[in-house]
Amino acid sequence: MTLSNSLATMDVATSLHPYTDARAFEATGPLIMDRGDGIYVYDSSGKQYIEALAGLWSVAVGFSEKRLLSAAMQQMEKLPYYHIFAGKSHEPSIRLSDKLVEIADDQRLSRVFYTNSGSEANDTIIKLVWFMNNALGRPQKKTFLARNKAYHGITIGAGSLTGLPNNHRDFDLPAIPVVHLTCPHYYRFGIDGESEAEFTQRLLVEAEHTILQKGPETIAAFIGEPVMAAGGVLLPPEGYWPGIEALCRKYDILLVADEVITGFGRLGTSFGYKKFGFSPDIVTVSKQITSSYMPLGAVLFGERIYNAVADNSHKIGTFGHGYTGSAHPVATAVALENLKIIEERDLIGNAAKLQDQFQDRLSQLAELPFVGEVRGVGLICAVELVADKASKRPFSKPGRVGTLAMQIGHEQGLIFRSIGDTLALCPPLIVTEDQISEIVARMHRVLTLTVAQIKALGID
Ligand code: PMP
Repeated sequence: MTLSNSLATMDVATSLHPYTDARAFEATGPLIMDRGDGIYVYDSSGKQYIEALAGLWSVAVGFSEKRLLSAAMQQMEKLPYYHIFAGKSHEPSIRLSDKLVEIADDQRLSRVFYTNSGSEANDTIIKLVWFMNNALGRPQKKTFLARNKAYHGITIGAGSLTGLPNNHRDFDLPAIPVVHLTCPHYYRFGIDGESEAEFTQRLLVEAEHTILQKGPETIAAFIGEPVMAAGGVLLPPEGYWPGIEALCRKYDILLVADEVITGFGRLGTSFGYKKFGFSPDIVTVSKQITSSYMPLGAVLFGERIYNAVADNSHKIGTFGHGYTGSAHPVATAVALENLKIIEERDLIGNAAKLQDQFQDRLSQLAELPFVGEVRGVGLICAVELVADKASKRPFSKPGRVGTLAMQIGHEQGLIFRSIGDTLALCPPLIVTEDQISEIVARMHRVLTLTVAQIKALGID
């Protein structure tokens, strides 16, 4: 038995994988990844793949950045662990907070709280906002507004904000007061004859009606990803974000931008809120903050929230929230070096420069059969496959074609994510013009082969 065979057997025998059909996995076993090099990863048989999802939308600097290795090693040698509870601190945490506030470049975002993940960052904002409203003597102001198809993580709180049936059904969620509004995806949820501007207007009216019906005094915050990624790379319609911001200001509702994917350059701007022209009160980040070399999440917020929390915790003794790994010194040291690389190599500028080539070339795939919509912004894009292009009718068994395409992708050396029958691409920010051409060429091959399979198998 080869090493990878015996590892595969052990894996099937001992693990439960996230987001995996366990019974199917028992039959197929894992695709074991072995090493990385730039935008490429290699499996245990030595086969090369373009990692066109940057891992999980996160490996900005690619899979072999030695500077992050050095940063981690140096910090491991000096102080491998310390916490920042009870008045302690350490240099990488302090410097990273300063850097994040500098990058955020918005007077509303002057404070940082650390977590280990994006889910924990979104859990933290629920608690932060609740704590603040209790402190301000308005304990009824606790409900969150989120959107259908949102992805904010999977912990009990963040999972409640997420708006995907798989994350709720059978987990008994939502477990916090949350209202999920219509998903702002014009292609799928715009109604016949409705213009994009009318769609935006309808969503804003729905949001305002919801606020008024529940009572503004009960609505604490609105949370949204500037571009909804895991829900299928769904772009907001024109004017959506400024409209939502205006409603939040009108009814004293905190506006939270979940920038776990869009933060640090994905859209060709440092943050998604800059791309779409709004100014959030709270921002959550993770993933690209360390290029996922180390687990780290953070919440950015401002003095209004800080002061309410600080005054109240002064009265009661402590702000009872934080993780053993909050501001982990190795993770924060790696984040600092990662953000330095993004800055020095102008990877945000690279995304801005290459976005037209990336989007224009991929949008040509819309000419292929079964391709309903190709949509994207910056260096994130999705191809939605449908049974009937004219009526936009989805396939009768959602996900079957997406899974098929993903398998064909593996054969063709291209890794992307299938979300139902939507195929998402989100390459590392270090990607070059030539590599984009290669990604598009492989994607074209994958789709051509998928189309042939759809026809051969008579999938409808
Ligand atoms: N928010 C968004 C927008 C995400 O895409 C994700 C993860 N894909 C999360 C939160 C949760 O992050 P994590 O998986 O690190 O908990």
